[in-house]
Amino acid sequence: MKGTPSMGKRSKKVTHIKCRRCGRVAFNVSKGYCAACGFGRSSKMRRYSWQNKKYNRVRVK
Ligand SMILES: [Zn+2]
Repeated sequence: MKGTPSMGKRSKKVTHIKCRRCGRVAFNVSKGYCAACGFGRSSKMRRYSWQNKKYNRVRVK
């Protein structure tokens, strides 16, 4: 099948590619920054206090 019916099967362009700072597939191509570590947005690593759940006041990775 070729033509208009097969156009729906064309693979979508990727939104996230492999980040060259954290290695995760979280680098947004169109936005130009990494969703996991903030690469491209800031020089500091993207970190939040709430990103790890704490058990017995000990941070669990
Ligand atoms: Zn990253």
